[in-house]
Amino acid sequence: MSIVRKIDVEGRIVLPISIREILKIDPTCDIIIQAHGNGLCLFIYRNYCVFCRATSNILAFKGHDVCKNCIRNIASGLKTIPRHEKIIQEENRSPAITKMIELLKQSPDIKQYEIAKILGISKPRVSQLMKKLRSGVV
Ligand SMILES: [Zn+2]
Repeated sequence: MSIVRKIDVEGRIVLPISIREILKIDPTCDIIIQAHGNGLCLFIYRNYCVFCRATSNILAFKGHDVCKNCIRNIASGLKTIPRHEKIIQEENRSPAITKMIELLKQSPDIKQYEIAKILGISKPRVSQLMKKLRSGVV
C-alpha cells in the first residue's frame, strides 16, 4: 500500500486513517523515524511489556521491553525452579517416587526390600530411585 501525502511547512505529515487502523496506531503513540537510503522508515514505538502489555515501569532487556512486575515474577519463578532441568517438579514425579517418599516419611527406617514389596517394584529399582532421591534429581 502506498499513499501520497504532502508534508506541511513545519515538516508534519498526517498518517492516513486507513493505515492507522490497519496498524492499530494510537493517535498519541510515538513513532521512530529512520532515514533509509533515499526514503524514510516509520516504526511504531510500542513501549509496553512483551508479556503483560503494561505501559509503566518498562525496562529494556535484550531488545525487548519488560515491565518491572514481570521481571520480578520471572525472577521469583527462577528461584523456585531449581537450576538443573533434570529435577522433576513434585507434580511430575512418578507415582512410585511419590509413594516411596510417603513410605519414608511414615517410617524412616524402612528397608529397601520392604519398599520394593509394598510398591510391587524390584529392589534394584528402589535402590535406583533412592539414589535419585538423595541426589535431588526427583
Ligand atoms: Zn509485564
